Amino acid sequence: MLVVMRVVHGVGCEVPMRLELELLKDIAVVVDKNCLFDAVRGFVCQWLQGAWVGENPTPPSQEILDWVPYITWVLKRKPDFQHATRSIIMEQSVTVAPKYAYTPDKVHTAMGRVRDEVLSTMRALIRDHLKELESTRHLPVQEGCCPCPHSFMRDWKILLQRARYPHKYKLSPVAVLTLVYEVVGKFDLAVGRGEPVCRISVHKVLKKCQQEMRECQGIDFDGNVVRYPFPLPWIDFKAINWPYNAWVGKNHQSPKEDMWESQRRLLAATAALTGYGRDRR
Ligand SMILES: [Zn+2]
Repeated sequence: MLVVMRVVHGVGCEVPMRLELELLKDIAVVVDKNCLFDAVRGFVCQWLQGAWVGENPTPPSQEILDWVPYITWVLKRKPDFQHATRSIIMEQSVTVAPKYAYTPDKVHTAMGRVRDEVLSTMRALIRDHLKELESTRHLPVQEGCCPCPHSFMRDWKILLQRARYPHKYKLSPVAVLTLVYEVVGKFDLAVGRGEPVCRISVHKVLKKCQQEMRECQGIDFDGNVVRYPFPLPWIDFKAINWPYNAWVGKNHQSPKEDMWESQRRLLAATAALTGYGRDRR
């Protein structure tokens, strides 16, 4: 309250440079309740850039995940709001509003709706791949020969079955993408340097799922999905202990920053343990 009073009364020099996230949340409450946005507008950049998690005790992740969308919503800072809502959409299997949430219900509802859309598109991409396989059936690959994408239809069907009930299986879009990586990893491992008898691409499913996730850039203040790259956030998400970071690419221009790429070998190795290799068929 004091910080906001100082700002409103023009004693800006006494406003701290670095604000703990919890204090920033309290400021947001005052600004929100008293419609003071215009009075503090000039400080938003400094506040968000200087936001940090603060000394002990560190707030629990659940609170950070609630405060940041709320703060950025009250302070009308779209890129940061998108950044936060995007990773919540991608990383959580279901958006449950915490009991005493600051973030308005309509924001939670919008995030849930966009997540459902992303998951539905991912399922459609897998179904398309299965349809393509169904329509190009050929004689079964003989024992000991190089497997082809048709050998993995069962894996895709199992994946699809689980992805149909994301709440039941606690599947976020990121979790579904991991499952896609596992099937593709198994395929890569089983094929190795061999030449599959047919040329249908399993990587196409993966690429398209990645693209779908990359193109969903969170939501705007009206709850609509944003589908183009946005300017970088002011908040240093590491400094506030934001619990999520593994998501596909930051924007279209930097596909090399795809954080999953480095995990690909690991995922392929994990997939190998469950055994779908040429020697086990
Ligand atoms: Zn085939």
